Amino acid sequence: MVKVSALDVANQQLEKALERMDLDENTKNQLRKTEKVLTVSIPVKMDNGQVNVFTGFRAQYNTARGPAKGGVRYHPQVCFDEVKALAAWMTWKCAVVGLPYGGGKGGIICNPKELSEGELERLSRRYIYEISSIIGPNKDIPAPDVYTNPQVMGWYIDTYNMLNGEAAFACVTGKPLALWGSEGRVEATASGVVQTIVMSLNRLDIVPEEATVVVQGYGNAGFYIAKFLHEKGLKIIGVSDSKGGVYNSNGLDSIALYQHKKETGTVSDFKRNGTEKIANDDLLKLECDILIPAALEEVINENNAHDIKAKIIAEAANGPTTSEADEILKEKGVFVIPDILANAGGVVVSYFEWVQNLNGYFWTEEKVQLRLKARMEKAFDEVLQIAQKEDIDNRTAAYICAVKKVAQAMKFRGIWP
Ligand code: NAD
Repeated sequence: MVKVSALDVANQQLEKALERMDLDENTKNQLRKTEKVLTVSIPVKMDNGQVNVFTGFRAQYNTARGPAKGGVRYHPQVCFDEVKALAAWMTWKCAVVGLPYGGGKGGIICNPKELSEGELERLSRRYIYEISSIIGPNKDIPAPDVYTNPQVMGWYIDTYNMLNGEAAFACVTGKPLALWGSEGRVEATASGVVQTIVMSLNRLDIVPEEATVVVQGYGNAGFYIAKFLHEKGLKIIGVSDSKGGVYNSNGLDSIALYQHKKETGTVSDFKRNGTEKIANDDLLKLECDILIPAALEEVINENNAHDIKAKIIAEAANGPTTSEADEILKEKGVFVIPDILANAGGVVVSYFEWVQNLNGYFWTEEKVQLRLKARMEKAFDEVLQIAQKEDIDNRTAAYICAVKKVAQAMKFRGIWP
């Protein structure tokens, strides 16, 4: 098997949509390119006195519709191409849900699990210093992603404001509430995923209380998805994290699992009422109604797509399915809620946070939830309508919905100079 990169997958998905769109070649060529990627070296004084030089990136894929928006990932497998792919997905995602943003993404090649709190803080602050010339409330607005969290956003905002002599809070989202983050931001990605799952169950006439769920990845997105679905009466039968997974056909208690992960660092050795261990690969092949990849890219690929038994795949993670797997899933009739739609709740509430920061006026959690729900429903209906009208898969429909909006913005702007 030839290993495809996340960027290959993002490019293939875009091409599939472009093939069906009546756009001129010049526009298509522009849509295929990343506007900007900054690669930076980040020297960090480690606790043992040694200086380690980390590599970081910040990519801006397309900013025709507004400032770049996207999280920052801390992971050993971060690379130039991955960051570009993630920035492209952010571009399409922001457009699908109608946000006035372009797409960006950042990353640092590191293993945050091996860093002390002090090392993590110094790494985060120096990264923001290195990319400070291209970020800002009207330029590019970072947020959390894999292994970054509200505390890291706190260091980001402090560094940005110290550098600029400002008190600008709209320059980063996903901040702690004490630093004017938004109510509902922490759970927003999961809330959005759950809303799209509920709408899909409706369409497919599946009774929620009879549905079984498998979640790969038990971090910010995965945990809250499991919690919310559990609260709605769905049965969570399998979950996993980077160390492995657990399975129980009678259902798992999402909160007990969370407590266990907090205490031991993993869900993989959770033992209660007949819960069994399961490898991450096998977890994806479990008999279930809803499979939720909520970790990293390309976990559903040509090697395992044939063995997937879920009726619905809700992509909480970005880029979890390769193009080859997409074709296989289509043949099997699996209903895929594509990442750029399913997990858009996070950036929607990041947008709400940015709006609240710019206005200095804050909304209740109820208002945030109502507005998030309205946006997710509208985007879901728009995408499904395109899919039905054009008789295409949901991902290509979501791309067409998004690319059309970006292409229109580019057309009206023209090219400077
Ligand atoms: P996180 O760091 O909170 O959690 C990641 C989880 O994935 C952890 O439980 C980790 O153990 C697990 N994991 C890592 N490697 C794994 C592997 N090989 N197999 C199984 N599990 C593995 O990150 P998150 O914020 O929950 O993000 C998860 C996914 O959701 C990413 O693809 C991210 O881009 C996407 N996403 C997140 C947000 C957000 O607001 N947090 C928004 C949109 C999309």
